Amino acid sequence: MACPHGGSIHAHYDGIKENIEQIGSGKNSRAIIVGDIVDGMPHDDPRYIPGEQEVDGDRKVEKSILRCYNDMAKMFMPIRNKILCAFAGNHDYRSMKWGDCVKDIFCERLGIPYGTTAGKIIVNDEKTGKLQYKIFAYHPFTGSIGSTHSDPIMREATETSQMKRKLVQQGMGDCLLQVVAHFHNGKIAPPFQGLYLVDDGTNIKQKYHKEADPRAQYIPENLRWYASLPGYQKKHIMGKSGYVERAGYGPVELGCIRAFVVAGKITHMDKVLV
Ligand SMILES: [Zn+2]
Repeated sequence: MACPHGGSIHAHYDGIKENIEQIGSGKNSRAIIVGDIVDGMPHDDPRYIPGEQEVDGDRKVEKSILRCYNDMAKMFMPIRNKILCAFAGNHDYRSMKWGDCVKDIFCERLGIPYGTTAGKIIVNDEKTGKLQYKIFAYHPFTGSIGSTHSDPIMREATETSQMKRKLVQQGMGDCLLQVVAHFHNGKIAPPFQGLYLVDDGTNIKQKYHKEADPRAQYIPENLRWYASLPGYQKKHIMGKSGYVERAGYGPVELGCIRAFVVAGKITHMDKVLV
């Protein structure tokens, strides 16, 4: 999961709760939260929405940064034992003048490790302690993925490829699963096992790249799994204009991404939209 943007009236709280419940009910499910825990827009920021602290439906949204982090910690409390790690995003950094609220409030209250803005998660077998696979996750503070191609097939391919490129550039050669937040754009790039030809001295034979060894020190770029995470920040709500609406960005999917892992092997990945 990434980008719940707590404290924003554009945050899709029902969706966040829905994903939290799904994680909670999955017997072996685990979660990582990759930044922008809180929206944290100060009153003097041009993107601040006047009246944001007002009632939203039957829920009062508080603008106090401390309240926002505490509220988010409360929201994730039911799955605290399933959260492997939480990271900070650019929105969290905005309110770090006097301290790190992701580390000292969100992670501290949930009793979970703090991953800063980029980190590796090493998954070991619970019984044997043997390495299963590694995850790399980060929340960049700038940049975007996007395409203006008229064909949606090309847009999807371009954005997925851009996301993969950004992750490859991080150079984390031993991580089977690599995820990036910030773009609020859910994309999945599975491994690509290409065809190649070899000969045995007499005949030419077809071969395919073998699937990755998840424990290898270097996993070839095209044999890893990559994903960019959606967020929970709605573009429009009735009666108030948020910064996504004002910037004129396109509407985005809301939800999280799942990876299904069996004995260190990722069998498939999908989006859970809310
Ligand atoms: Zn975000």
